[in-house]
Amino acid sequence: MALELYRSVAAGKRLPAYVRTARRRLGPINLEELDTHELWALHDAGARGHPSTDSGPSLLDLKIELAERMLGECRLCEHQCGVDRRGGEAGICGVGTNSRYFFEQIIWGEEAPLNPSHEVFFSGCNMRCKFCYSWETILDPGRGMPVLPEEFGRLIGRRRREGALNVNLIGGEPTVHLPSILRSLGFIDSPTAVVWNSNFLMSQHTVRLLNGIVDLYVGDFRFGNDACAQAVAGTDGYFEAAARNFRLAAGTGDVIVRHLVLPGHVDCCLRPIAEWMAENLPETPFNLMFQYMPFYEALNDPMLCRSLTPQEECDARRLVLSLGLNISRWNRPLPQGTERREVGSGEISTTIIVRPDGRVAVMHLHSQLMNLARALKSGGDTK
Ligand code: SF4
Repeated sequence: MALELYRSVAAGKRLPAYVRTARRRLGPINLEELDTHELWALHDAGARGHPSTDSGPSLLDLKIELAERMLGECRLCEHQCGVDRRGGEAGICGVGTNSRYFFEQIIWGEEAPLNPSHEVFFSGCNMRCKFCYSWETILDPGRGMPVLPEEFGRLIGRRRREGALNVNLIGGEPTVHLPSILRSLGFIDSPTAVVWNSNFLMSQHTVRLLNGIVDLYVGDFRFGNDACAQAVAGTDGYFEAAARNFRLAAGTGDVIVRHLVLPGHVDCCLRPIAEWMAENLPETPFNLMFQYMPFYEALNDPMLCRSLTPQEECDARRLVLSLGLNISRWNRPLPQGTERREVGSGEISTTIIVRPDGRVAVMHLHSQLMNLARALKSGGDTK
């Protein structure tokens, strides 16, 4: 069955990966005294199950130490900026040592096996997609609530007890916040499945650290060639890095690959991605998404300032079906008494789910509505 490992963690039948990693002890060593090469050697041996003792720091402690050191010459993602974020330098993402999130809530999202999901949206990103719907928090990673590991870990535990099947780490981009996220895991007081919801522009080092932490990767495979990634997201070397990371992730855990079809990008982007999937990950669930809306700089881009045409949707569906991809069939009927409504228009539109008890869940929340919801929740000013 697809996503078997993730499903067993979400159902509470299996411990999450990070809990198992936190229980793996490495023996009587002082991590701070070892150089980084020694730490990586120890890490990779630990990931293979060696040594296994009941004393000393854990494999999770070791991952935290390595992630913290990477901040001193940042190579968390494929941009490999090499800046000293601990010393106040900023790379392409602009994120320093402190992480922030601009929204968190239990949400019914697009992938049914994840619902209900505790979605956390971090500020800051390593890509600059012209159509980004949360661009305010991408350009200003200083916005939002600070990620204080103990408090944040307890928040995740509370959402789990409130019914979330998982914590779904989204952005922006979680990769640029890896050290804060790893530090928070040890404070989660109700074990939960960890979903890494990413653009997959991680460095190979980051992929190694995520192995043993993540129960399910949900990856947006955004562009099918480097020219489009550069033109639309200002990102070099995207396709090769993302393809490599999807292959690596699929070798260590469950994966869902998503692709948001962009207007005018069926042949140049969807086609090479779909062909790559057919050749490399034919069994992996593939979520083909058609909800593109122009936001931010896309509004001034002649190619991106429109919705998809019916013909583009038809061509996209026909293409992935002809390649035999494992297209998700998650748009199943909602539970009895529950209804789905499309509300709003233009930029400010979304889907809401109205449950039989009157509670409302919002899907694909626009950032302006997120701000409004946050202000209402805190009883504050909505201006
Ligand atoms: S996370 Fe990526 S973009 Fe940000 S500083 Fe590090 S290497 Fe650069």
